Amino acid sequence: MYILFLGPPGSGKGTYSRVASDVLKIPILATGDMLRNEVEKGTELGRTAERCINAGELVPDEVMFGIIENVLSHRDYQNGVIFDGFPRTLAQAKMLDEILDNMGTKVNVVIELFSTDDEIVERLSNRRVCPKCGRIYHLINMPPKVDEICDDDGEKLIQREDDKPDTIRNRLKVYHSQTAPIIEYYKEKDDILYLEIDTNGPPEVGRNRMLDEFRKIGLIN
Ligand code: AMP
Repeated sequence: MYILFLGPPGSGKGTYSRVASDVLKIPILATGDMLRNEVEKGTELGRTAERCINAGELVPDEVMFGIIENVLSHRDYQNGVIFDGFPRTLAQAKMLDEILDNMGTKVNVVIELFSTDDEIVERLSNRRVCPKCGRIYHLINMPPKVDEICDDDGEKLIQREDDKPDTIRNRLKVYHSQTAPIIEYYKEKDDILYLEIDTNGPPEVGRNRMLDEFRKIGLIN
């Protein structure tokens, strides 16, 4: 099964896709994590990605095409994927359809997460991540047991460079102009299950809303 998480930065894609991956046993493909990994390794792709990420802009479609095509050919992803952060433009959505079509499959479920801009800014400014395992924390709503330390591996948590106020505002602008149009693209398709989940409020509440929707459409019991 191929599932996409759509939604503005800070709407909970990282958190909720992990929950979905856990209950559905489908691997996650998070393009943001993949790009940050390249930045970390200092590759040429990483250098291009770093400039875009830090400015709150999208990495060019041609670059993303190459990455996705390559990664989807890997055998871990032949039976299903939960996409976190891909596609982010109409061109990427169309390209994904093409690649999946060539694999004899298609996008089955689209999950749109939404939150108010005020809640998003609050959430992103308090977000901290583990640089090693990628686990996401919120300093107030989902804090680690020991201040600023990852519960799972003891690493010191970091604040993402693009979670600073100016960059957050630009990322929201980019989402509304470049990514939001793909909502209509998917809503118009009648062979896709389209779920809308309100993620305002505490994460457990949104999580239960999502799991209720999964039950309704028979994804879980
Ligand atoms: P994320 O971790 O999903 O919030 O992604 C962080 C940043 O990585 C984004 O703000 C973009 O700069 C870049 N990025 C991630 N996924 C994509 C994509 N599908 N297309 C273009 N840029 C992306």
